[in-house]
Amino acid sequence: MRLPDPFKGHVYFVGAGPGDPGLITMKGAHYLSRANVILYDDLLDQRLLDLAPTDCEKIYVGKRGGRSSCSQDQINELLVEHGRRGGVVVRLKGGDPFVFGRGGEEALALVDAGIPFEIVSGVTAAAGVPAYAGIPLTHRGIAAAAVLVTGQEDPTRTTPAVDWAALAQLESTLVIYMGTRKLEAIAAILLEHGRAPETPVAMIERGTWPGQRTVTTRLDQVTSTAAQADIRSPALIVVGGVVALRETLDWYEQKPLFGRRLMITRSREQTGDLQLLLEAHGAQVAALPMLDIGPPADYVELDLCLRDLGRFAWVAFTSPNGVDFFFERLYQLGLDARALATASVAAVGLATGEHLRDRGLQPDLVPKRQSQDGLIEAFAGIDLSDSHILLPASPIARPDLAEALELQGAAVQQVTAYANQPAAPSGDDLRALADGHVDMAIFASPSSLHNLWSSLGAEASSRLAGIAIACIGPTTAGAAADYGLDVAVQPATSSMTALVEAICNFYRGSI
Ligand code: SAH
Repeated sequence: MRLPDPFKGHVYFVGAGPGDPGLITMKGAHYLSRANVILYDDLLDQRLLDLAPTDCEKIYVGKRGGRSSCSQDQINELLVEHGRRGGVVVRLKGGDPFVFGRGGEEALALVDAGIPFEIVSGVTAAAGVPAYAGIPLTHRGIAAAAVLVTGQEDPTRTTPAVDWAALAQLESTLVIYMGTRKLEAIAAILLEHGRAPETPVAMIERGTWPGQRTVTTRLDQVTSTAAQADIRSPALIVVGGVVALRETLDWYEQKPLFGRRLMITRSREQTGDLQLLLEAHGAQVAALPMLDIGPPADYVELDLCLRDLGRFAWVAFTSPNGVDFFFERLYQLGLDARALATASVAAVGLATGEHLRDRGLQPDLVPKRQSQDGLIEAFAGIDLSDSHILLPASPIARPDLAEALELQGAAVQQVTAYANQPAAPSGDDLRALADGHVDMAIFASPSSLHNLWSSLGAEASSRLAGIAIACIGPTTAGAAADYGLDVAVQPATSSMTALVEAICNFYRGSI
């Protein structure tokens, strides 16, 4: 899809969707990726803000704890001020900007100021949230109309803005936004004007997020059920026969990892892919980055190798990071995969092999047993005498591989391609571990474990008590066992997809 490049001084109202960041439109994502300024509300997934360029100014204008950080007038003024200043201004709003979001008022303020704007529609809560609860809004023979209505107005006011009596008489689906506080009065007036007491009702809290909670009841019991279940904002209330379809159509809350809270301990950069995979199975994912992966302290040695790759019979990669940093530097030097034309290439496992394929190289060797030891075994069958072998690695890489290859007569050069440093976990992340908010901690390298222990000391064991442990492969599992952890999940092959599958199987088995 080609989109016009935004020109100066334009305000884009972008609908963020109800929660799941994947529900943003392509056009919305496009403008976010070009934004100079973003004014954003609550409850937006950080990953949407991360789409913006790093120098983009991000201004929070939402409500926290029910208190506004900005009045509507202030928001309008900010929009006008930034619109006048020029650049790409994105007003990122939950759901759709023109459904109960005061987007109309904000656009009117821009019209008054003569500032051009565009509306980028979003998935409104009424479209996204019931869908994730398995409730179609219309269905042949059940509901031929759906009404979107705000429940914020007090229905007992003498001149209510919503004619609830008339709505009660429509046999349509009612989708009530902002309805949790006035629910009792709304249910009473609907019943009084003829809606059947047994009409099914669903209350969907935090819909489309991994923490989604759906509670179903009947119209005449809705107040007590809501109180019992302690339904909190943001919640959407759906009234009508279509709610019953959830019994058969509930697809999201049935996912194998739905309701499970998993913690990933990789570097922040590496968390994203695994997070997406786990979320696709319904998991709620938190990050506890225990590693900072970055460029090496200097490139002197690596550059010498990269400029002279023709000298090496083999280049053996022992991690996806090794591949990524190796190639980034190769490209910076003005070289590309052709520099490896005469070398054979080995990858420690499938994930590392995938990263090589992404760079246009098929690995010549991937051991069956995906580990350093597996790689050593695989090389044992190959004549390496007098061959030069390059091992791009981190400074803390184990020496075993290099030593084993040297025993076979190879001249091995282990070179630092990236640095792997312990990251200091934030207090909030660690609290989540302690407060029982995590069901499983996932380790993808021994360094994450070492770093957790070096930052927490003996406390690490007590923090992890009661939390299931998943490890990507034998080396990591071995390190976990050394720290006294029981490893609950370890896939047969060391790849991210196998790990995710093993985690799904673990939870399937425990239901
Ligand atoms: N412009 C937004 C609505 C803003 S009003 C849209 O188009 O969706 C805020 C109300 O929307 C909340 O009180 C709640 O009723 C509903 N809502 C928004 N996101 C929701 C979510 N993820 N789950 C349940 N309800 C949600």
